[in-house]
Amino acid sequence: MSESSIIPVFDGHNDVLLRLRRGGSNSVRSFLQGEAAGHIDLPKARRGGLAGGLCAVFIPSPDQPRDHNADFPAPPQSDALNETLAMFRLLLEIEAQSDGAVKVCRSASDIRSSIADGRFAAVFHIEGAEAIGADLDALHVLHQAGLRTLGPVWSRPNVFAYGVPFRFPSSPDIGPGLTEAGKDLIRACNELRILVDLSHMNEKGFWDIAKLSNAPLVASHSNAHKLSPHSRNLTDKQLDAIRDTGGLVGINFGVLFLREDGVRNTDTPLDVLVRHIAYIAERIGVEHVALGSDFDGTTIPQSLADASGLPKLIDALRAHGFDDRTLRMIAHENWVRILEQTWGS
Ligand SMILES: [Zn+2]
Repeated sequence: MSESSIIPVFDGHNDVLLRLRRGGSNSVRSFLQGEAAGHIDLPKARRGGLAGGLCAVFIPSPDQPRDHNADFPAPPQSDALNETLAMFRLLLEIEAQSDGAVKVCRSASDIRSSIADGRFAAVFHIEGAEAIGADLDALHVLHQAGLRTLGPVWSRPNVFAYGVPFRFPSSPDIGPGLTEAGKDLIRACNELRILVDLSHMNEKGFWDIAKLSNAPLVASHSNAHKLSPHSRNLTDKQLDAIRDTGGLVGINFGVLFLREDGVRNTDTPLDVLVRHIAYIAERIGVEHVALGSDFDGTTIPQSLADASGLPKLIDALRAHGFDDRTLRMIAHENWVRILEQTWGS
Protein backbone atom coordinates (compact mmCIF):
# COMPACT_ATOMS: atom_id res chain seq x y z
CA MET A 1 0.00 0.00 0.00
CA SER A 2 1.42 3.38 -0.91
CA GLU A 3 1.68 5.93 1.86
CA SER A 4 -0.71 8.26 0.09
CA SER A 5 -3.62 5.84 0.30
CA ILE A 6 -3.72 6.24 4.06
CA ILE A 7 -4.51 9.97 3.92
CA PRO A 8 -8.31 10.10 4.14
CA VAL A 9 -10.15 12.67 2.04
CA PHE A 10 -13.22 14.49 3.33
CA ASP A 11 -14.64 16.33 0.38
CA GLY A 12 -16.76 19.49 0.15
CA HIS A 13 -19.13 18.58 -2.68
CA ASN A 14 -20.56 15.58 -4.50
CA ASP A 15 -23.73 14.85 -6.47
CA VAL A 16 -23.89 11.11 -5.83
CA LEU A 17 -27.50 11.33 -4.57
CA LEU A 18 -28.66 12.90 -7.84
CA ARG A 19 -26.84 10.25 -9.89
CA LEU A 20 -28.33 7.44 -7.81
CA ARG A 21 -31.80 8.98 -7.88
CA ARG A 22 -31.65 9.11 -11.66
CA GLY A 23 -30.43 5.51 -11.71
CA GLY A 24 -33.72 4.19 -10.31
CA SER A 25 -34.80 1.47 -7.91
CA ASN A 26 -31.53 -0.30 -7.10
CA SER A 27 -29.81 2.88 -6.00
CA VAL A 28 -29.09 1.79 -2.41
CA ARG A 29 -27.48 -1.44 -3.59
CA SER A 30 -25.64 0.38 -6.39
CA PHE A 31 -23.98 2.61 -3.81
CA LEU A 32 -23.16 -0.08 -1.26
CA GLN A 33 -21.99 -2.79 -3.66
CA GLY A 34 -20.56 -0.53 -6.34
CA GLU A 35 -21.17 -0.30 -10.07
CA ALA A 36 -19.21 0.58 -13.16
CA ALA A 37 -20.85 3.97 -13.69
CA GLY A 38 -20.28 7.09 -11.66
CA HIS A 39 -17.57 8.68 -9.55
CA ILE A 40 -18.63 7.61 -6.06
CA ASP A 41 -19.85 4.37 -4.52
CA LEU A 42 -18.68 2.64 -1.36
CA PRO A 43 -16.07 0.33 -2.98
CA LYS A 44 -14.58 3.20 -5.03
CA ALA A 45 -14.53 5.43 -1.94
CA ARG A 46 -12.66 2.77 0.01
CA ARG A 47 -10.14 2.19 -2.77
CA GLY A 48 -9.40 5.92 -3.03
CA GLY A 49 -9.47 6.85 0.66
CA LEU A 50 -12.61 8.98 0.24
CA ALA A 51 -13.75 9.15 3.86
CA GLY A 52 -16.89 11.16 3.16
CA GLY A 53 -18.13 14.62 2.32
CA LEU A 54 -20.99 16.98 1.76
CA CYS A 55 -23.65 15.04 -0.17
CA ALA A 56 -25.66 17.58 -2.13
CA VAL A 57 -29.36 17.52 -2.72
CA PHE A 58 -29.68 19.39 -6.01
CA ILE A 59 -32.96 19.62 -7.91
CA PRO A 60 -32.44 20.14 -11.66
CA SER A 61 -34.45 22.82 -13.42
CA PRO A 62 -37.66 21.72 -15.15
CA ASP A 63 -36.56 20.56 -18.62
CA GLN A 64 -32.97 21.30 -17.55
CA PRO A 65 -31.25 22.63 -20.69
CA ARG A 66 -28.18 20.63 -21.71
CA ASP A 67 -26.37 23.79 -22.76
CA HIS A 68 -24.43 25.07 -19.75
CA ASN A 69 -24.66 28.65 -21.02
CA ALA A 70 -28.46 28.60 -21.02
CA ASP A 71 -30.57 30.39 -18.40
CA PHE A 72 -32.04 27.93 -15.91
CA PRO A 73 -35.48 28.40 -14.32
CA ALA A 74 -35.89 27.39 -10.66
CA PRO A 75 -38.18 24.40 -9.90
CA PRO A 76 -41.41 25.19 -7.97
CA GLN A 77 -41.01 24.95 -4.16
CA SER A 78 -43.41 22.02 -3.68
CA ASP A 79 -41.64 19.93 -6.32
CA ALA A 80 -38.24 20.81 -4.90
CA LEU A 81 -39.32 19.94 -1.35
CA ASN A 82 -40.77 16.57 -2.42
CA GLU A 83 -37.61 15.71 -4.29
CA THR A 84 -35.40 16.90 -1.40
CA LEU A 85 -37.24 14.57 0.98
CA ALA A 86 -36.85 11.68 -1.49
CA MET A 87 -33.12 12.28 -1.87
CA PHE A 88 -32.49 12.66 1.86
CA ARG A 89 -34.50 9.51 2.48
CA LEU A 90 -32.27 7.74 -0.04
CA LEU A 91 -29.23 8.77 1.99
CA LEU A 92 -30.91 7.57 5.21
CA GLU A 93 -31.71 4.23 3.51
CA ILE A 94 -28.09 3.85 2.43
CA GLU A 95 -27.05 4.44 6.04
CA ALA A 96 -29.66 2.01 7.38
CA GLN A 97 -28.69 -0.80 5.01
CA SER A 98 -24.93 -0.24 5.20
CA ASP A 99 -24.26 -2.37 8.28
CA GLY A 100 -22.44 0.54 9.88
CA ALA A 101 -20.33 1.36 6.80
CA VAL A 102 -22.07 4.72 6.18
CA LYS A 103 -22.92 7.36 8.77
CA VAL A 104 -25.08 10.45 8.25
CA CYS A 105 -23.05 12.95 10.28
CA ARG A 106 -24.67 15.79 12.22
CA SER A 107 -21.63 17.01 14.19
CA ALA A 108 -17.89 17.36 13.77
CA SER A 109 -17.37 14.59 16.31
CA ASP A 110 -19.57 12.32 14.14
CA ILE A 111 -17.20 13.04 11.24
CA ARG A 112 -14.05 12.54 13.30
CA SER A 113 -15.18 9.20 14.70
CA SER A 114 -16.40 8.03 11.28
CA ILE A 115 -13.04 8.82 9.68
CA ALA A 116 -11.23 7.06 12.55
CA ASP A 117 -13.46 3.97 12.25
CA GLY A 118 -13.46 3.82 8.43
CA ARG A 119 -17.15 4.67 8.05
CA PHE A 120 -18.21 6.84 5.08
CA ALA A 121 -19.12 10.21 6.65
CA ALA A 122 -22.02 11.78 4.75
CA VAL A 123 -23.31 15.28 5.49
CA PHE A 124 -26.76 16.34 4.23
CA HIS A 125 -26.25 19.48 2.09
CA ILE A 126 -28.71 21.48 -0.02
CA GLU A 127 -27.42 23.10 -3.23
CA GLY A 128 -30.01 25.71 -4.20
CA ALA A 129 -32.65 26.34 -1.52
CA GLU A 130 -35.73 26.07 -3.76
CA ALA A 131 -37.22 23.50 -1.34
CA ILE A 132 -37.39 26.21 1.31
CA GLY A 133 -39.98 28.99 1.07
CA ALA A 134 -39.54 32.56 2.26
CA ASP A 135 -41.31 31.54 5.53
CA LEU A 136 -38.27 29.28 6.25
CA ASP A 137 -40.54 26.56 7.75
CA ALA A 138 -38.76 23.83 5.79
CA LEU A 139 -35.35 25.15 6.89
CA HIS A 140 -36.15 24.55 10.54
CA VAL A 141 -37.67 21.11 9.95
CA LEU A 142 -34.86 19.95 7.64
CA HIS A 143 -32.28 21.16 10.15
CA GLN A 144 -33.86 18.95 12.81
CA ALA A 145 -33.68 16.07 10.32
CA GLY A 146 -29.95 16.58 9.76
CA LEU A 147 -29.43 19.43 7.27
CA ARG A 148 -26.11 20.99 8.21
CA THR A 149 -24.97 22.98 5.16
CA LEU A 150 -26.80 24.93 2.48
CA GLY A 151 -26.02 26.92 -0.65
CA PRO A 152 -28.78 29.53 -1.09
CA VAL A 153 -28.56 29.17 -4.88
CA TRP A 154 -27.41 26.99 -7.73
CA SER A 155 -26.59 28.88 -10.96
CA ARG A 156 -30.12 30.28 -11.33
CA PRO A 157 -32.25 32.84 -9.50
CA ASN A 158 -34.66 31.91 -6.68
CA VAL A 159 -36.54 33.77 -3.92
CA PHE A 160 -33.34 34.26 -1.91
CA ALA A 161 -30.63 35.29 -4.36
CA TYR A 162 -29.22 35.15 -7.87
CA GLY A 163 -26.99 32.25 -8.77
CA VAL A 164 -24.10 33.11 -11.06
CA PRO A 165 -24.78 31.88 -14.62
CA PHE A 166 -22.10 29.71 -16.28
CA ARG A 167 -20.04 32.08 -18.43
CA PHE A 168 -16.48 31.91 -19.75
CA PRO A 169 -14.52 34.06 -19.75
CA SER A 170 -16.45 36.21 -17.32
CA SER A 171 -16.34 38.01 -14.03
CA PRO A 172 -18.67 36.56 -11.34
CA ASP A 173 -20.28 40.01 -11.10
CA ILE A 174 -23.51 39.16 -12.94
CA GLY A 175 -26.88 40.22 -11.48
CA PRO A 176 -28.13 41.68 -8.20
CA GLY A 177 -27.47 40.68 -4.58
CA LEU A 178 -29.55 38.96 -1.89
CA THR A 179 -33.29 39.58 -1.69
CA GLU A 180 -34.88 40.48 1.67
CA ALA A 181 -35.89 36.81 2.00
CA GLY A 182 -32.27 35.92 1.27
CA LYS A 183 -31.07 38.11 4.13
CA ASP A 184 -33.56 36.39 6.45
CA LEU A 185 -32.23 33.01 5.25
CA ILE A 186 -28.62 33.94 6.10
CA ARG A 187 -29.60 35.20 9.57
CA ALA A 188 -31.58 32.00 10.21
CA CYS A 189 -28.67 29.82 9.04
CA ASN A 190 -26.39 31.69 11.43
CA GLU A 191 -28.84 31.14 14.30
CA LEU A 192 -29.23 27.44 13.50
CA ARG A 193 -25.47 27.21 12.81
CA ILE A 194 -26.06 25.84 9.31
CA LEU A 195 -23.04 26.44 7.07
CA VAL A 196 -23.78 28.86 4.21
CA ASP A 197 -22.05 27.78 0.99
CA LEU A 198 -20.96 30.58 -1.37
CA SER A 199 -20.25 28.45 -4.46
CA HIS A 200 -22.75 29.39 -7.22
CA MET A 201 -23.40 32.85 -5.66
CA ASN A 202 -22.88 35.80 -7.96
CA GLU A 203 -20.45 38.43 -6.73
CA LYS A 204 -23.00 40.88 -5.26
CA GLY A 205 -24.62 38.05 -3.32
CA PHE A 206 -21.18 36.96 -2.11
CA TRP A 207 -20.46 40.41 -0.67
CA ASP A 208 -23.94 40.70 0.85
CA ILE A 209 -23.33 37.43 2.72
CA ALA A 210 -19.80 38.54 3.68
CA LYS A 211 -21.33 41.63 5.29
CA LEU A 212 -24.20 39.84 7.00
CA SER A 213 -22.94 36.43 8.12
CA ASN A 214 -21.21 35.84 11.44
CA ALA A 215 -19.67 32.53 10.29
CA PRO A 216 -16.44 31.82 8.35
CA LEU A 217 -17.00 32.29 4.59
CA VAL A 218 -16.92 28.99 2.71
CA ALA A 219 -17.03 28.18 -1.00
CA SER A 220 -17.35 24.39 -1.11
CA HIS A 221 -16.47 23.79 -4.78
CA SER A 222 -14.92 26.76 -6.60
CA ASN A 223 -11.50 27.58 -8.02
CA ALA A 224 -9.14 30.51 -8.61
CA HIS A 225 -10.48 33.00 -11.17
CA LYS A 226 -6.92 34.17 -11.78
CA LEU A 227 -6.04 30.75 -13.28
CA SER A 228 -9.38 29.99 -14.95
CA PRO A 229 -11.55 33.05 -15.62
CA HIS A 230 -14.89 31.26 -15.23
CA SER A 231 -17.85 33.09 -13.66
CA ARG A 232 -18.07 30.23 -11.08
CA ASN A 233 -14.55 30.88 -9.78
CA LEU A 234 -13.34 33.22 -7.03
CA THR A 235 -11.49 36.48 -7.64
CA ASP A 236 -8.43 37.31 -5.57
CA LYS A 237 -10.51 39.80 -3.58
CA GLN A 238 -13.04 37.09 -2.74
CA LEU A 239 -10.25 34.70 -1.74
CA ASP A 240 -8.82 37.38 0.57
CA ALA A 241 -12.24 37.89 2.19
CA ILE A 242 -12.50 34.14 2.80
CA ARG A 243 -9.09 34.20 4.48
CA ASP A 244 -10.03 37.21 6.61
CA THR A 245 -12.98 35.32 8.16
CA GLY A 246 -10.96 32.15 8.72
CA GLY A 247 -12.95 30.43 5.98
CA LEU A 248 -12.32 27.80 3.32
CA VAL A 249 -12.26 27.07 -0.41
CA GLY A 250 -12.86 23.52 -1.67
CA ILE A 251 -11.17 22.97 -5.04
CA ASN A 252 -13.52 21.77 -7.78
CA PHE A 253 -12.15 18.96 -10.01
CA GLY A 254 -14.32 20.03 -12.98
CA VAL A 255 -12.19 20.68 -16.06
CA LEU A 256 -14.49 23.61 -17.02
CA PHE A 257 -13.46 25.41 -13.82
CA LEU A 258 -9.79 24.34 -13.87
CA ARG A 259 -8.55 25.04 -17.38
CA GLU A 260 -7.35 28.44 -18.49
CA ASP A 261 -9.18 27.91 -21.82
CA GLY A 262 -12.46 26.83 -20.15
CA VAL A 263 -12.81 23.88 -22.54
CA ARG A 264 -14.55 20.62 -21.55
CA ASN A 265 -11.52 18.46 -22.25
CA THR A 266 -10.94 15.46 -19.99
CA ASP A 267 -7.35 15.27 -21.18
CA THR A 268 -6.40 17.73 -18.44
CA PRO A 269 -3.31 16.93 -16.38
CA LEU A 270 -3.66 16.69 -12.60
CA ASP A 271 -1.00 19.35 -12.44
CA VAL A 272 -3.67 21.92 -13.42
CA LEU A 273 -5.62 20.95 -10.29
CA VAL A 274 -2.44 21.13 -8.22
CA ARG A 275 -1.80 24.65 -9.56
CA HIS A 276 -5.16 25.93 -8.23
CA ILE A 277 -4.47 24.42 -4.80
CA ALA A 278 -0.94 25.84 -4.74
CA TYR A 279 -2.12 29.28 -5.90
CA ILE A 280 -4.81 29.55 -3.22
CA ALA A 281 -2.51 28.14 -0.52
CA GLU A 282 0.15 30.66 -1.52
CA ARG A 283 -2.26 33.60 -1.56
CA ILE A 284 -4.41 32.99 1.54
CA GLY A 285 -2.72 30.17 3.47
CA VAL A 286 -2.90 26.40 3.28
CA GLU A 287 -5.30 26.27 6.23
CA HIS A 288 -7.93 27.85 3.94
CA VAL A 289 -7.78 25.35 1.06
CA ALA A 290 -9.38 21.91 0.80
CA LEU A 291 -11.11 19.70 -1.75
CA GLY A 292 -14.59 20.05 -3.28
CA SER A 293 -14.48 17.45 -6.05
CA ASP A 294 -17.96 17.85 -7.58
CA PHE A 295 -17.79 14.06 -8.12
CA ASP A 296 -20.87 12.81 -10.01
CA GLY A 297 -21.73 16.41 -10.90
CA THR A 298 -19.15 17.47 -13.44
CA THR A 299 -16.56 16.35 -16.01
CA ILE A 300 -13.24 15.61 -14.29
CA PRO A 301 -9.71 14.85 -15.60
CA GLN A 302 -9.65 11.34 -17.09
CA SER A 303 -6.49 10.42 -15.17
CA LEU A 304 -8.44 10.76 -11.93
CA ALA A 305 -11.40 8.77 -13.35
CA ASP A 306 -13.42 8.56 -10.11
CA ALA A 307 -13.04 8.51 -6.31
CA SER A 308 -10.66 5.56 -6.50
CA GLY A 309 -8.17 7.87 -8.25
CA LEU A 310 -7.76 10.23 -5.27
CA PRO A 311 -4.35 8.78 -4.27
CA LYS A 312 -3.04 10.02 -7.64
CA LEU A 313 -4.01 13.55 -6.66
CA ILE A 314 -2.38 13.16 -3.24
CA ASP A 315 0.77 11.88 -4.98
CA ALA A 316 0.74 14.85 -7.39
CA LEU A 317 0.43 17.25 -4.46
CA ARG A 318 3.27 15.50 -2.66
CA ALA A 319 5.41 15.71 -5.81
CA HIS A 320 4.68 19.44 -5.91
CA GLY A 321 6.24 19.76 -2.45
CA PHE A 322 3.40 19.58 0.07
CA ASP A 323 4.50 17.56 3.13
CA ASP A 324 2.30 14.97 4.83
CA ARG A 325 1.14 17.34 7.57
CA THR A 326 -0.05 19.83 4.95
CA LEU A 327 -1.61 17.07 2.85
CA ARG A 328 -3.72 16.00 5.82
CA MET A 329 -4.93 19.59 6.25
CA ILE A 330 -5.93 19.84 2.59
CA ALA A 331 -7.38 16.33 2.49
CA HIS A 332 -9.67 16.54 5.52
CA GLU A 333 -8.48 18.48 8.59
CA ASN A 334 -9.37 21.93 7.22
CA TRP A 335 -12.91 20.84 6.41
CA VAL A 336 -13.47 19.25 9.81
CA ARG A 337 -12.12 22.35 11.59
CA ILE A 338 -14.40 24.73 9.65
CA LEU A 339 -17.45 22.55 10.16
CA GLU A 340 -16.76 22.32 13.88
CA GLN A 341 -16.30 26.08 14.11
CA THR A 342 -19.52 26.72 12.20
CA TRP A 343 -21.66 24.08 13.87
CA GLY A 344 -20.28 24.29 17.39
CA SER A 345 -19.23 21.12 19.16
ZN1 LIG B 1 -22.34 22.89 -7.87
